Amino acid sequence: MNIMTLKNVKAFYVLEYWGEKRTIRAVNGVSLEVPEGEIFGIAGESGCGKSTLLKVLLSSIEPPLRLVEGKILYRVNGEERDVSSFKEGELRRLRWSFVSYIPQGSMHVLNPVKRVRDTFLEVLESHLKGEERRKWLSLAVEHLKELGLPPEVLTAFPHQLSGGMRQRVTIALATVLRPRVILADEPTTALDVVAQRAVLQLLKRIHREQGCTIVLVTHDMGIHAQLTTRMAIMYAGKIVEEGPTWEVFKSPLHPYTRHLIQSLPRIGDKSPRRGIPGNPPSLVSLPPGCAFHPRCPHASSRCAEEEPPLVEVREGHRVSCWLVRV
Ligand code: SF4
Repeated sequence: MNIMTLKNVKAFYVLEYWGEKRTIRAVNGVSLEVPEGEIFGIAGESGCGKSTLLKVLLSSIEPPLRLVEGKILYRVNGEERDVSSFKEGELRRLRWSFVSYIPQGSMHVLNPVKRVRDTFLEVLESHLKGEERRKWLSLAVEHLKELGLPPEVLTAFPHQLSGGMRQRVTIALATVLRPRVILADEPTTALDVVAQRAVLQLLKRIHREQGCTIVLVTHDMGIHAQLTTRMAIMYAGKIVEEGPTWEVFKSPLHPYTRHLIQSLPRIGDKSPRRGIPGNPPSLVSLPPGCAFHPRCPHASSRCAEEEPPLVEVREGHRVSCWLVRV
């Protein structure tokens, strides 16, 4: 059963500079199914559109981002709902309780001039009713305890906490109402290795104990290998490969996926890692045909002219490349 589904979604940033319009095709025709209970990874280089895809999944589409085409479906209480047509009030009711978001930097969520307690109170107050509301403090303390965080963090200001602790508090905030889906955007960026490990372990634990679905965006293929159960590879605003994580790592089908995996360091292998040649294309003017063709060692004339469709080549494993045939 899929908890979130995207159908041919196009979400573009439309900017105007000195009377000139620029359209950034950040999510350019993405169809995706997120099965309930998975840790679903979205990988790709910086600027490939993966963070925008997460905003689309959150249905947080604010100017200059526009939903140009497509549907965003959530399965809420067993019923599939098209949230792209929801009003802000309806979306607000779903945020934190059905779907929550862990942004790249914890300071986006934690107000620097408010104690952590007040941020928790804001989130809880808007969703709890009657008796529950009066118990918000014990709920927050209990939840922090469950996640191995001391209750003292509630009285702290964000700047009094370390980066790793702040990110763990952000995760605690995002999960206090036990949402069905957690969307996490590069949750370990800018953290040292020890703090990174603690954050990943915490996410794993929440997934196990709360039985929720996690969609994790990171450029770090090592994290995908450790944590995710299914993954999608994005390139130039599109998904170029998607499948079970173990299968993507064991037998990647798209040349871009192979490059991403080959660039990972390996224990005992001291040979230099090969990066991906060239740079990702500008999302303002995409190359014709397969957007990867200017960098692809296997490109043919067809690749420069025709865009390969994303097709299922094995059960649950899709790829978009002319080299791979069904
Ligand atoms: Fe390379 Fe062609 Fe496949 Fe694109 S379609 S990844 S250019 S072989």
